[in-house]
Amino acid sequence: MRNVFVTGGAGFIGSHCVISLVKNGYKPIILDNFSNSHQSIIKKLEKITKKKIIYYNVDIRDKKKLKLIFKKHPCYAVIHCAGFKAVGESVENSVCYFENNVGSTLALLECMQKNKIYKIIFSSSATVYDDDKALPLKENGKIGNTKNPYGTSKYIIERILKDLAKSDSRWSIRIARYFNPISNHPTGLIKENPKGALNNLIPYIVKVAQKKISELKIFGKDYNTKDGTGVRDYVHIMDLADGHTAMIKKISHKKGLKIYNFGTGKGWSVLEVVKAFEKQTGISIPYKFTKRRKGDVAISICSPKKALKELNWKAKYDLDHAIIDIKKIL
Ligand code: NAD
Ligand code: UDP
Repeated sequence: MRNVFVTGGAGFIGSHCVISLVKNGYKPIILDNFSNSHQSIIKKLEKITKKKIIYYNVDIRDKKKLKLIFKKHPCYAVIHCAGFKAVGESVENSVCYFENNVGSTLALLECMQKNKIYKIIFSSSATVYDDDKALPLKENGKIGNTKNPYGTSKYIIERILKDLAKSDSRWSIRIARYFNPISNHPTGLIKENPKGALNNLIPYIVKVAQKKISELKIFGKDYNTKDGTGVRDYVHIMDLADGHTAMIKKISHKKGLKIYNFGTGKGWSVLEVVKAFEKQTGISIPYKFTKRRKGDVAISICSPKKALKELNWKAKYDLDHAIIDIKKIL
């Protein structure tokens, strides 16, 4: 059974990847410092997968500890999800964001190199794309005109990985550009559960549905979109997790660097999401319009064709299905 290290494996995306890996016969090993997740997730993952999950409470920047872990477990490949992701926080404390996101990646790459592990999947983001690009966004589209230190940290890491792939042909590097991951495992046992504040649309809608806040603020109603509200490509987290397994399955087929978008290729406006939520749950979501949020683009939709062609990956679930699974956590 192949060991796959999942950095940030206790977090939202990493934990769902762990489930997909187990389902597909891999042995995930979680490396996480629990800075934005909870140790209790491990028991939940064991309940879902019915397997013992090995995990280490380790900061990826801690090269000494990392070295010991790599010595102990032969590793086939690494899925690198660890990092900070709050855009607002990254503006307030950019040094900390670069230090953690870029620093942890460099420490990890160094350790992998020393242990002759040359297969890595990196969690990147749609935020690396320039916002004046033709839609849907394609992997070869222009990137780098980032709007905040979080996005810049992803862009810098992509550049580092590109240079690494060029300079050393032993590497198989996959960059996964996520669009808008939502929902949770169908059991509802695990979900997005950060220690810091939630910023995304769906978690806010959930809070309104749970009556923890009285209304949703919709950021802007004058975008050049179908109804004036922002349009995004929402992808079910289980689909996204399976996308990682699809990359792992093929990672030895071709060395060098490859980039994949992970989204559905369809866009939903904020108002459409609210309506779909109300329809599937029967819960009314009061909202009010406020001004645009700084840094938001009008529309972000990907072309997922490359992932279909090369990985045979395609999102199976639509927004309605994602909301049906969200009902389990209400
Ligand atoms: P998350 O915060 O839920 O998970 C990240 C995990 O990494 C957390 O468990 C945290 O404790 C851990 N971590 C952070 N720094 C670490 C370090 N130095 N050493 C060890 N562990 C560390 O976030 P997520 O939503 O699961 O995102 C995973 C990755 O995907 C991140 O890199 C994020 O930037 C990227 N991403 C997320 C989204 C999204 O909407 N969730 C979109 C695009 C890209
Ligand atoms: N959004 C909103 N109210 C919120 C959170 C988000 O209107 O409380 C909008 C936001 O402007 C964007 C869409 O919902 O158009 C998705 O935002 P999210 O933060 O979930 O993802 P991202 O900005 O990363 O695409």
